[in-house]
Amino acid sequence: MTNSRAAVMKRATRLENVFFSTTFDPFSFSFCLILGRFEKGRIYTFIGEVVVSMNPYKNLNIYGRDTIEQYKGRELYERPPHLFAIADAAYKAMKRRSKDTCIVISGESGAGKTEASKYIMQYIAAITNPSQRAEVERVKNILLKSNCVLEAFGNAKTNRNDNSSRFGKYMDINFDFKGDPIGGHINNYLLEKSRVIVQQPGERSFHSFYQVEFKAVADAMKVIGFKQEEIQTVYKIVAAILHLGNLKFSVDGDTPLIENGKVVSVIADLLSTKSDMVEKALLFRTVATGRDVIDKQHTEQEATYGRDAFAKAIYERLFCWIVTHINDVIEVKNYDNTIHGKNTVIGVLDIYGFEIFDNNSFEQFCINYCNEKLQQLFIQLVLKQEQEEYQREGIPWKHIDYFNNQIIVDLVEQQHKGIIAILDDACMNVGKVTDEMFLEALNNKLGKHAHFSSRKLCATDKILEFDRDFRIKHYAGDVIYSVTGFIDKNKDTLFQDFKRLMYNSSNPVLKMMWPEGKLSITEVTKRPLTAATLFKNSMIALVDNLASKEPYYVRCIKPNDKKSPQLFDEERCRHQVEYLGLLENVRVRRAGFAYRQTYEKFLHRYKMISEFTWPNHDLPSDKEAVKKLIECCGFQHDVAYGKTKIFIRTPRTLFTLEELHAKM
Ligand code: ADP
Ligand code: MG
Repeated sequence: MTNSRAAVMKRATRLENVFFSTTFDPFSFSFCLILGRFEKGRIYTFIGEVVVSMNPYKNLNIYGRDTIEQYKGRELYERPPHLFAIADAAYKAMKRRSKDTCIVISGESGAGKTEASKYIMQYIAAITNPSQRAEVERVKNILLKSNCVLEAFGNAKTNRNDNSSRFGKYMDINFDFKGDPIGGHINNYLLEKSRVIVQQPGERSFHSFYQVEFKAVADAMKVIGFKQEEIQTVYKIVAAILHLGNLKFSVDGDTPLIENGKVVSVIADLLSTKSDMVEKALLFRTVATGRDVIDKQHTEQEATYGRDAFAKAIYERLFCWIVTHINDVIEVKNYDNTIHGKNTVIGVLDIYGFEIFDNNSFEQFCINYCNEKLQQLFIQLVLKQEQEEYQREGIPWKHIDYFNNQIIVDLVEQQHKGIIAILDDACMNVGKVTDEMFLEALNNKLGKHAHFSSRKLCATDKILEFDRDFRIKHYAGDVIYSVTGFIDKNKDTLFQDFKRLMYNSSNPVLKMMWPEGKLSITEVTKRPLTAATLFKNSMIALVDNLASKEPYYVRCIKPNDKKSPQLFDEERCRHQVEYLGLLENVRVRRAGFAYRQTYEKFLHRYKMISEFTWPNHDLPSDKEAVKKLIECCGFQHDVAYGKTKIFIRTPRTLFTLEELHAKM
């Protein structure tokens, strides 16, 4: 036995003694395990095939070339828990078995998701393309560099994280038959564009507005293939947004005016349009009344709303345009991968975790709904699937209870009855609709729902302070949402005039971002989908996509709220371990089996261990042959025989089999 294998086996045995002891308490187990490892500077822990990662808040020397080498091509349990182990497992499954795989990274803001996704990508980049093919190198380089650009425009300093992603990201990496990356695709979800206009105390707008590390971003943009005039346009848009923020309106009688007219001409210059057109778009809107088209003057309030909506919209467009641009250059081209007819994918999802702020609004509602969807997927894939497999294989199994959050997913997304449908209904009403009317509708329709409440429904509820709040009992905890702004944010109205203004810009890059500005007022007929419905549709598509792949999970935990490498806030960690579903995960794993394999494949690998099976067996079936082999080794108490598969309870048995196999 080699030393490293001996060490691994010792470790596995130690863990498994705790894992399978009779006085097992899954909560204490997972908690102590994670804590114990963290105290020794080991930030990763495996629970089954899930990697739990604890943010160290300090740089650790565990991502270098030598570490990469240690994980390359090894089996999951052969090396200590690490992100690289999961990345390698996903890569191996993709390469060996031609399976599309995905790595789902979840956790609260600041827990380390984005850092984890970057290390995973670095790992994949490091272990691929041994023959240094130029096209593959190009793709890899762009994939890595895209992070820098996306972070500049999509990340901001918040109170929870100095480099907080304010958008969700799902990135597909496409591989050819050799297992080398040949392209990719990024999907972005719900950029928190309101940050352009307002930030909470102590927070900032997106990095791009402050950037003094500007050169790195510009360089990355060049590598990705942005042209000089495109990069210039990008910064002109950012500057225009800053100037929009300085615009002031006043009223003269009923007529709103722009106080500082000079700013308008600066904005017009930056956006390659004319001052009078900018001014008109800011102060009027074109409306069609029957056959007539008239210019209707804004009130001061409308003008302010229009200005803010415009600033948010051009930033969002800019961000989406950047993503599209990156996608264009890494799109899989029609070359040798299609000749061989094989193109497999690893998807990496880095998306906002569950959020509970002091004041939770529409954005938190969407983000938390997203987490409900992902939790449901986790339940389906990890917990449910595991239990169903035992049933299917006829393995005696005591069902383990877990909280199924489908009821909350339905509460939010169900057609006609869910919160989003009720919100859309309210937005559809003609005439003035208020947030209060929306809340009223929620109360009427959802008053009896076990996971919904509001002050109106339980007037004695001390926690709900205001008549404008409602509460959802999420799987991860109760969140009180203020309805203020729900209607506006969901409608997400941008006056058509701004779209036409941008489409008529003489800057071709800008014009390209606003194709719908081509339509005149009489041609615009369709009511655009609401923000919540767009988000819901994108979440459903995301979950469908993830469900079609073999999932690997990274669950990130934040040790404290102070960004400190020393503190371990026990309460905070307990809560996260609880709601990440790790407990149920441990319970199912513990009651279950660490390893399963079809009889045929199992035999193929281990048949040389026993004289009864090597080189061939004369038993009536592969199942019988496997039974014989297991009995020869004395492992019969640690296995169960399913209809098509053998199930092995403890990893130690598997290690020993591997040992015996290696000795042959
Ligand atoms: P999230 O994406 O979950 O909001 P980030 O990945 O941005 O969180 O991590 C927040 C901060 O925590 C990072 O900027 C970094 O300072 C620190 N951090 C996260 N993961 C690690 C790690 N593996 N090693 C060292 N520091 C880390
Ligand atoms: Mg992040």
